[in-house]
Amino acid sequence: MQDEFDDFHPDTLAVRAGQTRSQFGEHAEALYLTSSFVADDAAQAAARFSGREPGFIYSRFTNPTVSMFEQRLAALEGAEAAQATASGMAAILALCMAHLRAGDHIVASNGLFGATIQLFNNYLGKFGVSVSYVDATDRAAWQAAVRPETKLFYLETPSNPLTEIADIAMVAEVAHAHGALLAVDNCFCSPILQRPLELGADLVVHSATKYLDGQGRVLGGAVCGSKALVEPVYLFIRTAGSTLSAFNAWVLLKGLETLGLRMRAHCDNALKLAQWLTAHPAVERVYYPGLPSHPQYELAQRQQQGGGGIVSFELRGGQEAAWRLIDSVRLLSRTANLGDVKTTITHPASTTHGRVTPEARAAAGIRDNLVRIAVGLEHIDDLTADLRRGLD
Ligand SMILES: *Cc1c(COP(=O)(O)O)cnc(C)c1O
Repeated sequence: MQDEFDDFHPDTLAVRAGQTRSQFGEHAEALYLTSSFVADDAAQAAARFSGREPGFIYSRFTNPTVSMFEQRLAALEGAEAAQATASGMAAILALCMAHLRAGDHIVASNGLFGATIQLFNNYLGKFGVSVSYVDATDRAAWQAAVRPETKLFYLETPSNPLTEIADIAMVAEVAHAHGALLAVDNCFCSPILQRPLELGADLVVHSATKYLDGQGRVLGGAVCGSKALVEPVYLFIRTAGSTLSAFNAWVLLKGLETLGLRMRAHCDNALKLAQWLTAHPAVERVYYPGLPSHPQYELAQRQQQGGGGIVSFELRGGQEAAWRLIDSVRLLSRTANLGDVKTTITHPASTTHGRVTPEARAAAGIRDNLVRIAVGLEHIDDLTADLRRGLD
């Protein structure tokens, strides 16, 4: 797969990579809604079950539509292999179940996706895996958190909601110096804007629910990396059953076809919105990696092919002002989801980060006057007109 597509650009891979055709020669990817597959004879069934012969057995293990999605995503990430999962969280759990055991330790960046923190603290903790959280931009902090039993570095960049950028190559270097793996959650950028494996990461996890689908339709996830690192993830998934459904894989394949177009449009719109917000007197501070005022602007320019679709900003006047703005919108959707063609607006302190203690929230820099917008593909003038009502 990889050899065949080595010379193609991401936009071509997004449309073409991974497709296999049935005997009917269908042009579009086929949707294989079947739970199991039949064998020609008993010997073939035995050979397939034992792994001596490749072939489909049961859709909890593998399915042709799901395989097409996996190969297309792997090609885009520059990975040898990808394992699809039922959701982004299922991907993160599978990665941990496959590569960690009781007594192991994770070093993770501050400001992870909320459910990831809960998974790490409440569930991995229950089975004897411990986690330390560090400032993702601070090399010394990653280094200082390492213990003899550290097996995994886990990084989200850009962070949510403040779009802090960590240097993936730097974190990979520290992880590898201690014999640990680096996994990067590449949900915010997608492989169109950032390819962590090329920068030294060992594994990439995705919530395909976000930009890979891009149209807010299905849940999905994936773990990408070398065959050797993805194989144990596959063995966990086929046993635990957190498999991606064929239907969702088919929707995601169609989503991937327009990923490049959409990501560039998200970035264009988000940059325009960030510039417009910066100039508005009601706005105190804007967080967007594509603005020269962003603390890691240079790194973002180097590491990413665009600023991404998430813009966060602080208003003059506390939570009241933030809620007033959110209540005034008529076009934007009041929801915490992101990675959709529809623009969404949310108040992190009382929603996505509402269960975090006020002290922890303050430490993470999430203030009560902070608003996050996941910029969609509506016309920028309509977005600014919708926001102007609440800001002016
Ligand atoms: C949404 C999200 C997840 C979890 O994905 P689901 O598909 O909702 O399970 C993980 N990481 C990040 C950064 C996300 O935004």
